[in-house]
Amino acid sequence: MALKTRQEYRAALASLRPNIYKFGRAVTDVTADPLTRRVVESHSRAYDGAHDPRRCELFTCRSSLSGATVHRWNSLCVSADDLVSAARFKREMFRLTGTCTGGACVGWNALGALWAVTFEVDAVRGTCYHERLRRWALEAEEAGWMVAGALTDAKGNRSLPPASQPAHYLRVVDEDSGGIVVRGCKAMIAGVAASHQVLVMPGTTCREADRDFAVAFAVPRDAEGLTVVETRRPSDGRELEAGFDVPETGITQAFLLFRDVYVPLDRVFLLREPEFTAGLIRYFTANYRAGIGACVAGQGDVMIGAAVLMARANGLPGRVFRDRLVEMAVNNETTFGLGVGAVALGRPHPSGVWLADPLTAHVNKVLVSRLPQETRRLCQEIAGGVVETGCLPSSADLDSPEYGLDLREALAGAVDGETRARAARLAEWLTVGAGVPGCMHGGGSPDGARAVIRSLLCLDACAELARTLAGIDAPVPEPEA
Ligand SMILES: Cc1cc2nc3c(=O)[nH]c(=O)nc-3n(C[C@H](O)[C@H](O)[C@H](O)COP(=O)(O)OP(=O)(O)OC[C@H]3O[C@@H](n4cnc5c(N)ncnc54)[C@H](O)[C@@H]3O)c2cc1C
Repeated sequence: MALKTRQEYRAALASLRPNIYKFGRAVTDVTADPLTRRVVESHSRAYDGAHDPRRCELFTCRSSLSGATVHRWNSLCVSADDLVSAARFKREMFRLTGTCTGGACVGWNALGALWAVTFEVDAVRGTCYHERLRRWALEAEEAGWMVAGALTDAKGNRSLPPASQPAHYLRVVDEDSGGIVVRGCKAMIAGVAASHQVLVMPGTTCREADRDFAVAFAVPRDAEGLTVVETRRPSDGRELEAGFDVPETGITQAFLLFRDVYVPLDRVFLLREPEFTAGLIRYFTANYRAGIGACVAGQGDVMIGAAVLMARANGLPGRVFRDRLVEMAVNNETTFGLGVGAVALGRPHPSGVWLADPLTAHVNKVLVSRLPQETRRLCQEIAGGVVETGCLPSSADLDSPEYGLDLREALAGAVDGETRARAARLAEWLTVGAGVPGCMHGGGSPDGARAVIRSLLCLDACAELARTLAGIDAPVPEPEA
């Protein structure tokens, strides 16, 4: 049975080798340790959704590979409807957790991109990458895995390619008849502590000299030689606190240190194929940047809710802030709707997966780097200084036998002090804390998206339209540079 319960999901995670570290210490059980249990709780809610009559239609689907009912994040998106459902699923996950569930997102998206590229490579080279990927995808859906996606390399000097600075990119360092040995670091990888597997692919286009870096594969999260360092986010360090200061959900980011990890060939989906990496990045970013508008819209929905709660707690009716709440909703629906539009304008790839329209998807990425920041600003504006200044006592202080009652009285508004403090803490977490999903660089920097838009923008065709309408007969050529 491919559908797993939260208990089965967590049991499978708990059985993995402890190779995760944070604050200098090992995490032995990710499901229970305060440093990681919140990210696991977030992802557990995806499994709950699969068994919840209100959500199962969105959280599960029929596998195009096996025909079985599977977790949606284990499926291939083979139609526009599938990708729109993926976007709605991501929005719902943000609504349920307030933040990102990278283990149910990045690896999933990488699977679709690799599905298309392995199909192309095999057609040209006669290799068997696609069949290997198909077998792994079937295993993933049967096991109901969460799969982190690892693209981003350490990168070093951004103006130099991988071959000029091999230590900063993940690469193949050795191989035998049964597999390859990889070394290097992947950075900023979301939700690894909540994942069973990691799907790895290049994060940049490789040239011929970068052959050893043009590699894609899957490994278990606890693979021998892999060390995961979960990082400290700006407002972290509170994980060990009790009380209401930290929500029960959360996201983590990790450095993945591949210290000579052996990957059996049946898990290698691309090996020294630099000429296919451009397509891989293109497919990955088109679908990812269509979907990310739904993620930030889901968090925006929660920000609207937090702003309304704060207004009410402050004794102010929603109509006082109606114009700003409407602006927040406009931002949410803009990125969500544009992403869905990119999907609708997309096309099927010969391998079967659906690819979003790149121009629309990359425009969405540019908006995603801006609009949620404005939504955050509006949430803070409505909520008041208690959310922004950091002048919000901890839950432990509210419980102090010495001065807790005085603090509660001071914090009370139209509701009691603890209720107002809880709403404020959530708004703070969403707008300046660990709940911020990183929409500026998540899924790639906006400049990368602008570069794609520039390349797809046909200035000559636009100039021709204008020339005709202006009644200009003579050509108006581009001046020589
Ligand atoms: C919340 C969050 C979650 C993420 N999750 C994942 C994940 O799960 N998996 C994953 O693989 N990655 C993940 N990432 C990483 C993300 O893909 C990268 O942050 C993104 O690709 C940008 O890379 P960078 O941070 O190294 O920025 P940089 O490459 O350092 O870029 C910084 C700036 O310099 C510009 N720049 C860079 N190189 C050049 C150049 N050669 N010429 C001109 N300008 C340049 C960029 O456009 C940008 O404006 C995540 C990021 C965030 C913020």
